[in-house]
Amino acid sequence: AKAEGRGNVQIFAPSMEREVMRRRDLEVDLRRALAEGELTIYYQPQFAVDGEVVVGFEALVRWLQPERGIVSPGEFVPIAEQTGLITELDMWVLRNACAQARDWGGVKLAVNLSPVDFRRRDLDQQVKQILDETGFPADRLEIEITENLLFGNQPEAFASLAALRRMGIRVALDDFGSGYSSLGYIRRFRVDTIKIDRSFTQNIGQSDDAAAIIDCVVRLARALAITVTAEGVETREQLRYLQSVGCHHVQGFLLAGPVPLGSIDRYLERAVSA
Ligand code: C2E
Ligand code: CA
Ligand code: CA
Ligand code: CA
Repeated sequence: AKAEGRGNVQIFAPSMEREVMRRRDLEVDLRRALAEGELTIYYQPQFAVDGEVVVGFEALVRWLQPERGIVSPGEFVPIAEQTGLITELDMWVLRNACAQARDWGGVKLAVNLSPVDFRRRDLDQQVKQILDETGFPADRLEIEITENLLFGNQPEAFASLAALRRMGIRVALDDFGSGYSSLGYIRRFRVDTIKIDRSFTQNIGQSDDAAAIIDCVVRLARALAITVTAEGVETREQLRYLQSVGCHHVQGFLLAGPVPLGSIDRYLERAVSA
């Protein structure tokens, strides 16, 4: 239609159309995946900073597509967020993870929630219903939210968060340092846990600044009685540094990647019992 238009229109229009179609396909497929059980949950162990004792597991969704194989959430979560399907997906993950993890002794279960989920006024009611249905104890559940939620400044989000906390659910601030971080948020929300973004962890040994920031965040968090988990720990050197500054928990490929339910036993054997 714009054949006579400026060059950039001709160049970009077809690829944009393709992108829109790819998304629509993915959305249709994802809806079907939810209905037909193509989604599954992997669990990544979280360790005490000694790297031995397992303190919890983070639920990470996986899509086992017959044609494409495993699709990473990095690819479909943003699309699910744009279409609003994310809340159904997150509630599916929460329900199934709570059912699967109920008998895992005293370990914590961490579940990711999208900022989009908090646009629903009844989010806390949905979560409560899932805990009731599955019999999962609220005090073993930690929800992971990102700074984007707090930055969005949605009044209904604040209300839902407060309601979840009153139920005894813990709140972790995910990807800390990657976005519009503000220490003010931590104070205002009294989050239980801060998860240091892996971009900092992975710069330990490469950048003195990253190390200094981690040191500083740990001190601050400790002063406020907040637990610190470092994400993306891949080397012994990183682990040693995190131990030296008094970080509480660690998560990363050095210790364990996300594993399917069938491989969880060897980590449960190393878990804290209460
Ligand atoms: P996230 O919450 O920051 O999760 C950590 C991601 O880092 C996971 O990727 C995990 O596999 C990966 N990871 C763990 N250890 C290491 C490491 O040592 N090195 C490196 N390079 N990566 C590591 P995954 O599973 O692909 O998930 C990507 C993102 O998708 C998650 O980031 C989270 O934001 C989102 N996500 C995953 N599951 C869900 C879900 O059920 N609901 C929602 N709303 N988002 C989810
Ligand atoms: Ca997370
Ligand atoms: Ca993270
Ligand atoms: Ca993330």
